[in-house]
Amino acid sequence: MRIVLLGPPGAGKGTQAIMLADKKGFLHLSTGDILRENVKNGTFIGKKAKAFMDNGELVPDDIVIEMMLDTIKNARSQEDFILDGFPRTVYQANNLDRELNKLKLPIDMVVYFKTSIKTVILRLTGRRLCSRCGASYHITNMPPKKQGVCDKCGSELYQRKDDSEETIKKRLEVYDSQTKELIDYYKTQGILKEVSGDLEAPKVYSELSEILNTCEADDRNKVRK
Ligand code: AMP
Repeated sequence: MRIVLLGPPGAGKGTQAIMLADKKGFLHLSTGDILRENVKNGTFIGKKAKAFMDNGELVPDDIVIEMMLDTIKNARSQEDFILDGFPRTVYQANNLDRELNKLKLPIDMVVYFKTSIKTVILRLTGRRLCSRCGASYHITNMPPKKQGVCDKCGSELYQRKDDSEETIKKRLEVYDSQTKELIDYYKTQGILKEVSGDLEAPKVYSELSEILNTCEADDRNKVRK
């Protein structure tokens, strides 16, 4: 099953994608993670993307589309994956649809994380990440045992540069002006589902699991008919 997670930054898409990957074996493809890895390694893509990311703007479509389509084509599984943070514009969505249709592996389901601005700002300003293993914490909702230190590997935690209040504001403006219209785009295709991104992660996960189970059951029924 191929799933797109859609919603504003801080809606919890990454957290849920990690849980689905852990528990159900999905391949988790996060555009933000792949871009950050490119920046860290100083690649051609990373050099082009860095300033846009630091400013909370979208990296130009052509760079991201080529990067993500290559990632999908080279992935260990093209049957079951989750796209987290891609597509983020209608142009990206059109390109993705075209390529996946050619592979006869279209997107089966898009989950929209309906989330309030208040939640998003609280989550992003308090988010801290491990500099080594990438584990995610929150200063109040999910603090590490020892302040500033990762529970899993003992490395130092840091705050993402684009999680500053000013850049968060910019990212939310970008979401409103360029990404939000994807809700209608996928609603028209009849594959949009919704979860409440304001809930705590385990509750969102049970909503998500229920949706997945229903879709899988529908698929089985279609095969039987
Ligand atoms: P994220 O980790 O999903 O919050 O993404 C971090 C940053 O990476 C965004 O603010 C953008 O600068 C860039 N980015 C991630 N996904 C995309 C995308 N699909 N299109 C363009 N830029 C993206």
